[in-house]
Amino acid sequence: MSSNRLYLYVPPEEEAEVEALGALRDPESACWYIGSGEDPTRFSKWLEESDEDAQDEELSITSDEAYVASATVSCWRCRARIVVICIYCASGIASGEPLARFTVSHISAMDSALVRQLEPWGTFREGYSEGSQDSYFANHCPHCRALQEDLYLHSEPDQPLLQRSARRTGRDQAHPARGKGPVERG
Ligand SMILES: [Zn+2]
Repeated sequence: MSSNRLYLYVPPEEEAEVEALGALRDPESACWYIGSGEDPTRFSKWLEESDEDAQDEELSITSDEAYVASATVSCWRCRARIVVICIYCASGIASGEPLARFTVSHISAMDSALVRQLEPWGTFREGYSEGSQDSYFANHCPHCRALQEDLYLHSEPDQPLLQRSARRTGRDQAHPARGKGPVERG
């Protein structure tokens, strides 16, 4: 993979447009990009703010110190009190960069070891989010089956998940989990 490629974020209906402007498509990843010979300003609409932001879009996270943090919240749709989880890493490597104490959201894929460890939380499964127009692993309400948006959970006024995650002594809430997979960090 060439390092002087600039990758573009192109919705399917705009593919013809970027192709006409000179963008190329990587045959393996199916990602659109421009080479160093192209003027990036013509493609600014499809570029992230900076390269760093682009790397944040999808991270591959490996952690040997990950926990499942659970919290009770109200379902946004039916208002039932439900248990939701998030994955909290005391330490980990995200795309080569060491990170400490972070939660992981918008998980697009997990390895089989992590999937097995999340089996007790059957309501945490892959689902389609209307909000982000994407499929990812998310909590679901066991009563009305509504997908509980990661964004919603993490931005609750009292931030139940983040508070629980930070409480590392809460052994009943934190279950060691090991795994890796391409995920996005919230
Ligand atoms: Zn519900």
